[in-house]
Amino acid sequence: MQSYSLFAPAKINLHLEVIGDRPDGYHELVMIMQSVDLGDTLHLRANGTDQIRIFCENPQVPLDKTNLVYKAVRLMQKKYSKVSNNFGGLDITIEKNIPVAAGLAGGSSNAAAVLVGINLIWSLGLTQPELRDLSAFLGSDVAFCISGGTAIATGRGEKITPLPDLKDIWVILAKYNNLSVSTPRAYKSYREQFNHLYVTDLEDINERTDHIHSGDLVRAISEENADKIGHLLMNDLEKVVLPQYPVVSNLIDAFKAHNVLGAMMSGSGPTVFALCKTQKQAQMVTTNVKKEINDANLDFWVTKMCPHGITVESKGQSSKDKGQR
Ligand code: ATP
Repeated sequence: MQSYSLFAPAKINLHLEVIGDRPDGYHELVMIMQSVDLGDTLHLRANGTDQIRIFCENPQVPLDKTNLVYKAVRLMQKKYSKVSNNFGGLDITIEKNIPVAAGLAGGSSNAAAVLVGINLIWSLGLTQPELRDLSAFLGSDVAFCISGGTAIATGRGEKITPLPDLKDIWVILAKYNNLSVSTPRAYKSYREQFNHLYVTDLEDINERTDHIHSGDLVRAISEENADKIGHLLMNDLEKVVLPQYPVVSNLIDAFKAHNVLGAMMSGSGPTVFALCKTQKQAQMVTTNVKKEINDANLDFWVTKMCPHGITVESKGQSSKDKGQR
């Protein structure tokens, strides 16, 4: 049976604005998302059984039906039941490099890889917009993760407008490995504290949504102006997460003290990212911040902005797949 290995990059948010509530219970958001080179590799293989089997060495990743990867397979099996009967279930091995519950969309990117992988294994011929429509059933970040790169995401996060690629900006990611933030909880806190500011009128929501397209950050991205991009970073969720986690706030300040282009929390955190113009600067800042904070639980990654979402790494039957028979 055919097998695919796919690369699933993490994302950071360059802009995350909470506009208001939606009738479906989610938040109306305006975001600018950016893929980074740090990512997971997923090996997918049709197994000819009626089972979906997930393998992952990271103990934080569930291997049962709560895994977003499992949900993505079930979604495709239900939607394309006839085709799926010809192939049976799937064996999926996740090589986890993206920290879990970190605001980096690890689970969403894995689910996006499964949609792309099944589309290939079952020869469904679905287009990216069709895959994005399906992804809405799995989570708000999955749509972006399919195509990745740099993009505006509005609605729940599922309406994607691609932006020009940002190629030459380096990204330091830093996360306390003993800290994780629940995304639903962060949004719940935000609603509790700030719902008096929520925009309710549909016309006003549309105006706020449209504003991002002609805003300064999009202009800076089009001009590839790294200094301006660094200055214009914003994330509404910092207002609720940072007061609760002073160590995360201190980490952002530590990066800013080293004159990075900008530093901010990604998504609902607790990962912090800092932008640098060169790899050398990123490595130097990392060494210095590591020394200054001196906490064995603080992990760092030096990576780069990445111009794509899910990509195929290889096709065929890998030795890894064979080993799991
Ligand atoms: P987002 O930025 O989209 O809010 P996140 O990066 O904060 O996501 P994830 O890494 O996706 O968070 O993990 C959130 C929770 O989802 C974890 O606590 C884990 O139990 C569960 N989970 C389900 N599937 C996966 C997966 N494939 N990889 C990682 N976590 C998963």
